[in-house]
Amino acid sequence: MSHLMNTYARLPVAFTHGQGAKVFDESGRSYLDALAGIAVSTLGHAHPRLVKAIADQAGRILHASNIYRIREQEQLGDRLAALSGMDEVFLCNSGCEANEAAIKLARMFGHQKGIDSPAIVVMEKAFHGRTLATLSATGNRKVQAGFEPLVGGFVRVPFDDLAAVENIAANNVVAVLLEPIQGEGGINVAHPEYLQGLRRICDERGWLLMFDEIQCGLGRTGYWFACQHAGVKPDVMTLAKGLGSGVPIGACLATGPAAGVFKPGNHGSTFGGNPLACTAALTTLAVIEEEGLLHRAAALGEKLRADFAGALAGQAGIVSIRGDGLMIGIELDRPCGELVTRALERGLLINVTAERVVRLLPALVFTDKDAQELVSILSTLISEFLA
Ligand SMILES: *Cc1c(COP(=O)(O)O)cnc(C)c1O
Repeated sequence: MSHLMNTYARLPVAFTHGQGAKVFDESGRSYLDALAGIAVSTLGHAHPRLVKAIADQAGRILHASNIYRIREQEQLGDRLAALSGMDEVFLCNSGCEANEAAIKLARMFGHQKGIDSPAIVVMEKAFHGRTLATLSATGNRKVQAGFEPLVGGFVRVPFDDLAAVENIAANNVVAVLLEPIQGEGGINVAHPEYLQGLRRICDERGWLLMFDEIQCGLGRTGYWFACQHAGVKPDVMTLAKGLGSGVPIGACLATGPAAGVFKPGNHGSTFGGNPLACTAALTTLAVIEEEGLLHRAAALGEKLRADFAGALAGQAGIVSIRGDGLMIGIELDRPCGELVTRALERGLLINVTAERVVRLLPALVFTDKDAQELVSILSTLISEFLA
């Protein structure tokens, strides 16, 4: 028996190494990785540039406290600001921490405006993390059950429903927090007009528009950030998963009215933005740009959805094939969690979320051959499952 706390229902396989979109288990068996550690391994496994950059950085300095200047962090701040058009960057170690920073920032923004009990609008089916504040912001009772009392100050509305936000009458609202594409909630893509409408409402009412791009950001949709698809710039944006291509790092970006809210002493993190993590992130961003992976994600994603539509045409039980770029959901008309083990048996790593949605989040370096293999194995599995 393992001494690890029983927090995960783990599949019976352990990986020893990988190469691109392939990973190998302890017996040497190879798997096609169409999940990339849930949108984490942006550059696939063992990308030579990332391996070298991390090794070189480890040979110089791994960690320096945030009581000193950290040049790698300053460079990453500049780079993220240039890519996003945002002004300020706070670095941390994970997605929930990035969202904690955003929630704290929104509350302090409210207090600075004289709102003593600030509230943040959040969405049904949202996922924002597992800390107390972020699970309270999450729109999934399973994530919250047993942890009451929840953190207060959240107002929940249906996702992609502009009227629901327009109709909020409360006078203590300070911000709206949402994923432009919901990940855990089932690959639910917000309409561009919805995001544009939220921008207008937030401008009119002096609310912060806060996008959680922890899963959908960093090139996955073919844009650096999914919101750029709709031409909407938020006031706060959170990043994590794919940012370090496997090295833990998160970021909370702020601009406009959200910039300048935090002062020294308001927020911090021991490990946040250490030289190793920042080098991994800088290298990830450089490789995405130099290898043309934005274009790649958009084109390959479109091809994958079309190929799945072709392979599954006429198959009863398919509700929809959706997503953007390499963030793909195939919704079935019934719970399909067992597809994960069936895929594993055939050497394919996938995930099922929201009970009925097969979720694919492959590395941005996924090749045409990987894509062909994925469509062939998975469409056969789905057809067998639905038969
Ligand atoms: C994964 C995820 C989080 C939480 O990130 P952790 O690093 O697990 O804390 C938050 N928001 C979204 C959209 C996510 O997909």
